[in-house]
Amino acid sequence: MFLKRLKLFFLVTTLLASVFLISSWYKTYQFENNPLDVKILKKIKIKQYELQTLAYKKFGVSRKIPVLVSNKMPSSLYGAATFSKENEIKIYLNKKRFKESSDYMLDNVLPHEYAHALMFAINDFTKQNAGHSLKWQKICIALNGLKCDRFVKEDDIIIGKTNFFGKN
Ligand SMILES: [Zn+2]
Repeated sequence: MFLKRLKLFFLVTTLLASVFLISSWYKTYQFENNPLDVKILKKIKIKQYELQTLAYKKFGVSRKIPVLVSNKMPSSLYGAATFSKENEIKIYLNKKRFKESSDYMLDNVLPHEYAHALMFAINDFTKQNAGHSLKWQKICIALNGLKCDRFVKEDDIIIGKTNFFGKN
């Protein structure tokens, strides 16, 4: 009797664990193979518009800078600001990092990268502290950024070619 119950207990536990495992695999699969949630995409658009307005009000920059979410970025990068040979300025946000916290991506990472992009827009391509110069910091703070530390270890400005083409 006791053994029978024990067997049943194990059976149920194994089944539950399998269900849990499969559902978590499925969630990861869904996340990796689909665009970000519509709500998050909407929030990115709103933030982008806010930054564009601040850039114009505070620095007179009216250039529209595209913000793209990519799944082709190295995991170590949260975001990047790129300047291509064709004079295109783009901001990339790492899709993988949205899984941890979308607020962090929006309030910390996006303004940080936007400040790099504005530096490009005003033709300042300084390599000082990997682009984290005093001027960059002032812009970052003016954009209400929460991650405007000058002594970060990130190499998040890319001048030249990028291969962050993923559209997700
Ligand atoms: Zn940076």
